[in-house]
Amino acid sequence: MTENKRAGKLVVISGFSGVGKGTVVNRLLSDYDHYTLSVSMTTRKPREGEVHGVNYYFVSNEEFEEMIRNGGLLEHAGYADHYYGTPRSFVEENMAKGKDVILEIEVQGAMQIKKVFPDAVLIFITTPSAGEMAKRLIGRKTETEEQIDNRFKRAVEEIEHLEKYDYIVVNDDLDDCVREINGIVETEEGGVSLDPKFKTRFLSELLEIIDERMQAARARLAAERSHRK
Ligand code: 5GP
Repeated sequence: MTENKRAGKLVVISGFSGVGKGTVVNRLLSDYDHYTLSVSMTTRKPREGEVHGVNYYFVSNEEFEEMIRNGGLLEHAGYADHYYGTPRSFVEENMAKGKDVILEIEVQGAMQIKKVFPDAVLIFITTPSAGEMAKRLIGRKTETEEQIDNRFKRAVEEIEHLEKYDYIVVNDDLDDCVREINGIVETEEGGVSLDPKFKTRFLSELLEIIDERMQAARARLAAERSHRK
């Protein structure tokens, strides 16, 4: 007897740095058995504790470029001086088996996926406010000050693309967020439609945070200089 399964969906999850995407994705994988996660390929070096084949496939520039040439990637993008991309075969095989395949990728990659797979569900996860994002990003103490600054600047760019996502989900309470995303994937309903006021408020708060950090950095520099005199 042949099984007549529906083809799986492609679920793209993006979101600002510090929003808890990794935790949300892990919960989707552990709470429901219809998901699987695509492991991306990257040219960045592994961070402490990261495992090849689990967190990423860590490859050289040459290997990555070879994959692009051979059509082995569904999408790829440059982020912070490194390549990131989604291997094609895993996604295609698992969708054919009926699995909903999660891609945790950034905005440029998400847009490429939407072009090739118009039925992909694009979900953007955000914190309730930029202040909350700052609190989480600074609080987790895994990035240098410079990396934190870059992630705030990146968020300013990302916010411009918010409208291109099918659903915006606020990660205020983890359980609610996970349930809401699963509900969206199963029924394609839910999420908040983008309130233009949310975007403006988030952006102006974000710019204020960046300004304050720049002022603090200038003050530190001035103090160091006067100390050296
Ligand atoms: P990180 O270096 O912090 O692991 O990831 C940096 C960014 O790259 C994150 O926004 C992450 O979602 C994104 N990313 C990870 N894998 C891929 C991928 O395969 N394709 C694209 N376009 N972005 C990815």
